Amino acid sequence: MNVTSVNPYTQKKIKTYPALSAQSLDRKIKQADRAFTDWSALSLEERLAYFRKVAAYLRSEKQRYAELMTAEMGKTLKESAAEIEKCAVGCDYYLAHAPKFLADRAIETEAKKSFISYQPLGVVLAVMPWNFPFWQVFRFAIPSLLAGNVGLLKHAANVSGCSLAIEEIFRACDFPTGAFQSLLIESKTVETVLKDPRVKAVTLTGSERAGASVAGIAGSQIKKSVLELGGSDALIVLADADLEKAAEVAAQSRMQNAGQSCIAAKRFIVEKSVKKEFTERVLHHIQAIQQGDPTLETTTMGPVARIDLAETIERQCAETVRQGARILSGGNRAGCNVQPILLDKVKPGMTAFDEETFGPLAVVIEAKDEQDAVKLANQSNYGLGSALWTQDLDRADRLARQIQAGSVFVNSLMRSDARVPFGGVKLSGFGRELSEVGMKEFLNIKTVWIE
Ligand code: NDP
Repeated sequence: MNVTSVNPYTQKKIKTYPALSAQSLDRKIKQADRAFTDWSALSLEERLAYFRKVAAYLRSEKQRYAELMTAEMGKTLKESAAEIEKCAVGCDYYLAHAPKFLADRAIETEAKKSFISYQPLGVVLAVMPWNFPFWQVFRFAIPSLLAGNVGLLKHAANVSGCSLAIEEIFRACDFPTGAFQSLLIESKTVETVLKDPRVKAVTLTGSERAGASVAGIAGSQIKKSVLELGGSDALIVLADADLEKAAEVAAQSRMQNAGQSCIAAKRFIVEKSVKKEFTERVLHHIQAIQQGDPTLETTTMGPVARIDLAETIERQCAETVRQGARILSGGNRAGCNVQPILLDKVKPGMTAFDEETFGPLAVVIEAKDEQDAVKLANQSNYGLGSALWTQDLDRADRLARQIQAGSVFVNSLMRSDARVPFGGVKLSGFGRELSEVGMKEFLNIKTVWIE
């Protein structure tokens, strides 16, 4: 079967790519397996040198890759360029910290010597989504490859050009053949790859449905999996918050990347006494968004990545309004361009409260007080990255511990940052990416005890 990339803004076909044949797939897995022997035998210093090249290459080719990303999934060119830079910054971070993270750790026991040694597992499969087509891949690839693993990428079908471009980056930086390869395969072929004994582990970012399937297969093979799935994260605004800053960041968090981010603030939960003012301020920021051609400098929001995603947002909005919510702004749609939506009077039981909304749809939910706000925040099947706005930092510390989520950012934009662990609880998945913790997900944490 072929895979076709379509530009979501113009709806024009970009390119059709033939899927890998069974023989080509086997050859790529064989190459990965062979590459592991050589790649893992290099010293860390040698592997770091490869990633120094990657950081420089990403920066030198930023414009070209940004244009490809924008064409395939519709984010603005400015957002695409920032994403490439983020990948380079991710390299910089691990270049500086990998030696410390991967060093043996002495443990005091009665033995002559006892320590932990961190050793790579082998070929790791990455099943990745289209919403951050470069960053999602690099945040896996940088720490995993630096630690000595090799990577196989099954990217989302609509960003096949990005998938091949990422493989090209590793080739251009002279990585050994097979150290990082893209597999243009259908999602159903993931099972074949994961059941192959040469493949040792899998990481997936995407929907619950895909995550459940992939983790199920990994479990049946006793292979490690890390899942980074959806979210329906709360952004809590308490009465003592800096309302203007909170409103500005709330709109940014929800609307950047046309609302297609797992950690976007999807439910604004606001204390009753400030709800009216906060909502007016958010509305002002949402109405200032310049929608249009993502290649133009003046555009601040491009289309969503596919027609089915636009239709889903439209359905979720219509259902929520039918269930009693009030639409304050937006909602028109032309192809993949969904006019940013703000809904008020949203409550548990309504579609936009209960389901993940993966597009430009913001909802305001009223909370009686701080405890009601936390209860509403936790009334979700998901738990990825919440935000909390209050000027009382002791209160923030106390409440952050009560919120069921992998991260809580206080008075700040919830984001993925290489320095801190990233991942979720509940249906948002398990395992962590980034930081020292993420680097160790695909390592054998080996105990050595010498008497
Ligand atoms: P999917 O989960 O379907 O796609 C993500 C990746 O998983 C793609 O590479 C896809 O390949 C692959 N995949 C899909 N199904 C399977 C499967 N059964 N076995 C193995 N691999 C699979 O996401 P969608 O693009 O369909 O988006 C749907 C929803 O998922 C969004 O609306 C959003 O709610 C959520 N999502 C969350 C993301 C996040 O960052 N957490 C990112 C993207 C989506 P292929 O493209 O070939 O189907």
